[in-house]
Amino acid sequence: CNNMLICNRLESTAAASDSSEPPSEKYEYQAEVSRLMDLIVHSLYSNKEVFLRELVSNASDALDKLRFLSVTEPGLLKDAVDLDIRIQTDKDNGIITITDSGIGMTRQELVDCLGTIAQSGTAKFFKALKDSKDAGVDSNLIGQFGVGFYSAFLVSDKVVVSTKSPKSDKQYVWEGEANANSYTVREETDPEKFIPRGTRLTLYLKRDDKGFAHPERIQNLVKNYSQFVSFPIYTWQEKG
Ligand code: ADP
Ligand code: MG
Repeated sequence: CNNMLICNRLESTAAASDSSEPPSEKYEYQAEVSRLMDLIVHSLYSNKEVFLRELVSNASDALDKLRFLSVTEPGLLKDAVDLDIRIQTDKDNGIITITDSGIGMTRQELVDCLGTIAQSGTAKFFKALKDSKDAGVDSNLIGQFGVGFYSAFLVSDKVVVSTKSPKSDKQYVWEGEANANSYTVREETDPEKFIPRGTRLTLYLKRDDKGFAHPERIQNLVKNYSQFVSFPIYTWQEKG
């Protein structure tokens, strides 16, 4: 995103100095995002499955950006040459992970892009929302305009985004929960979670939405909504 809005840092929750815990910082969402989150979490919008289309489209955009930049800067591809999207499901625990090897986000980009709203689609959404007073209309708007990244909260209680930009030596984690007006950002320090480049989203599905964590279900959604994505999309079930 090209978001120039200034973020709202709430407080630093840096751990005590005798602990090896990395500092985690808490940020408040921009007011519009809070409103959008509230609408997403409480709406009666029934076509929740659009979340996958939105998240796959973000993964595809991130891969496109990387591919474009790598034409003039081939070194960007050095840590991982394959440009793809991997969707893994864990049906026993109701978890979906979506990993792309795209451009990733720096710490600042995480805050700028996943805490504020700047792009035109969502701006139109808010204009339409302002013009309507009726909750039923509100929830239809979700489908009409698409709510991008935040659509993850149509089906998730908690969303964790772990991301590594080629511009940064470090990997960062954004963590947000439905029904909260703030999110946290910290450095990724668990080597098991390191990715060479790109972004991994982990969706902790709501109790009633755990059915999405089946590879067949995901494959169907990919077929229906993401058939024109120009990167390979792999899906598989985590062994139980
Ligand atoms: P849009 O895609 O219309 O810009 P979204 O809400 O879907 O809006 O995403 C907001 C921004 O977050 C994107 O513009 C992008 O900068 C960033 N973003 C989201 N997902 C990813 C991803 N997988 N990799 C890199 N950046 C991402
Ligand atoms: Mg998007």
